[in-house]
Amino acid sequence: MQLIYCPQCGLLLPAGARACPRCGRPAPVQPPPPPPRYQPPRTAPAPGPRYHTPPRAARPTLGGYLGALLLFSLPGVGLIVLLAWACGGTDRPDRQKLAQAFLLWLAILSAVVLALAIAFAAQPLLPLFAPLLHRLRPLALARLLL
Ligand SMILES: [Zn+2]
Repeated sequence: MQLIYCPQCGLLLPAGARACPRCGRPAPVQPPPPPPRYQPPRTAPAPGPRYHTPPRAARPTLGGYLGALLLFSLPGVGLIVLLAWACGGTDRPDRQKLAQAFLLWLAILSAVVLALAIAFAAQPLLPLFAPLLHRLRPLALARLLL
């Protein structure tokens, strides 16, 4: 608490006085009390932060991925599980993403294998088309360039 003296008569003013009790002069404006210094709360210390630990089964693990890939590879059932998971039939996002990635990879692989199979299957037929291809070569080149 700051002591305030009357500027006119020098009397020590009581705390909160609006005027000097001796001479009647209005007390000088008191500066606002300093903000209270921080005091640590006296309450019991807060318990440590509680970390939410997800159940262990929900965490993606190497074994989980291996098991999932094995499951996808099963004939029949694997494709059903794969499609179900990829379409959101699982509550685990990592499983859904894995199924989607596997499905995409399967599609790419199938397309490559199919293209190779067609190319190999069509090979014996190529001589039959040779004259035609020879005639169409300029056109084919133009097609390739465009
Ligand atoms: Zn005074």
